[in-house]
Amino acid sequence: RKFVFVTGGVMSGLGKGITAASTGRLLSNAGFDVTAVKIDPYLNVDAGTMNPYQHGEVYVLKDGGEVDLDLGNYERFLGTDMTFDHNVTTGKTYKHVIEKERAGDYLGNTVQIIPHITDDIKRRIREAAEGTDVCLVEVGGTVGDIEGMPYLEALRQFSHEEDDEDVLFTHVTLVPYSKNGEQKTKPTQHSVKELRSIGLQPDVLVGRCEDRLDPETKEKIALFCDVPTDAVFSNPDVEDIYHVPLMVEEEGLDEYVMERLHIADEALPPEER
Ligand code: ADP
Repeated sequence: RKFVFVTGGVMSGLGKGITAASTGRLLSNAGFDVTAVKIDPYLNVDAGTMNPYQHGEVYVLKDGGEVDLDLGNYERFLGTDMTFDHNVTTGKTYKHVIEKERAGDYLGNTVQIIPHITDDIKRRIREAAEGTDVCLVEVGGTVGDIEGMPYLEALRQFSHEEDDEDVLFTHVTLVPYSKNGEQKTKPTQHSVKELRSIGLQPDVLVGRCEDRLDPETKEKIALFCDVPTDAVFSNPDVEDIYHVPLMVEEEGLDEYVMERLHIADEALPPEER
C-alpha cells in the first residue's frame, strides 16, 4: 500500500486540500483504488460543534459523521464515499487514548504524546487505508503550528516504518509575486526549512501562484529545497477548482508520483484514463 502525505506551508487556504484531491483523482484515473484521510489538528472531536462562520458548513457523511468541508472535496474528486474514520482530529485521538488510560489498558505506563498519541494517529491512518492501493493523508493547518506537531512526528515515524517507495511527501506552498513582477521563492525555502527541522524532507513541491511557475522559479526551488526540478509543480489560479487536476496533469504530477511510488507499471495507459 502507498501513502501520499500532503502538508502545507506559508499560510492556510492555499489549496492544499485541492492539490491532494487532484493527485488522488489522477491516480484514480490511472486505475488505482484511492482513498483519503483528512487530519484536523483541533481539539474538537468533530466539526459538528463548530461555528459555520469559522470553518464553513459542517459536511455530513453517509454514516452520519460530521466533518470538515474538505471531506466533501475528496468525495467529489475521488468519486467515493468517505466514513467518519477518514477524519482524524486531535479531539478524537486524545479522547480515545485517555479512555484507554482510564480503563487501565496502558498497564501502569506513563501515557505520553510520543509514543501513545503518535501510535494512535498511525493506527487510524493505516485502518482508513485498508483495502485500497493509495491513501492520501492531508495534514490540516501549516507546518510549524504547535497543534500539528504530533501529526508530523507521527508521519516521520510512519515513513521509517514503511519502505521508502511506499511513502511520498508533498508540500504545498505559496509563490507570491513581488511588486516588480518576479515570482518569489523565499517563503517556500523557509517553509521547507521548517519541515526539515522536524525531520521531514519533501519529495514533491507544489507552488500555489497566480500563474504557472516559471522554469527559473522551479529551478531555484529545486536547488534550495533539495528536490529534482521535475518534482516542482504549479497550482495556478483557475476559475473552477475542478480544472486543477488537469493543470497538474499537464505538468506531469501524476507520472512523477507513480514513478516515485513504483506503481507506474501497473497504471492504465494514458489513452485509457
Ligand atoms: P487548504 O487545504 O490549503 O486550506 P483548500 O484546498 O481548502 O486550501 O483551498 C482553499 C480555497 O482555495 C478553496 O476555496 C479552494 O476552492 C480555493 N482554491 C484551491 N486551489 C485553487 C486554484 N488553483 N485556483 C483557485 N482557487 C483555488
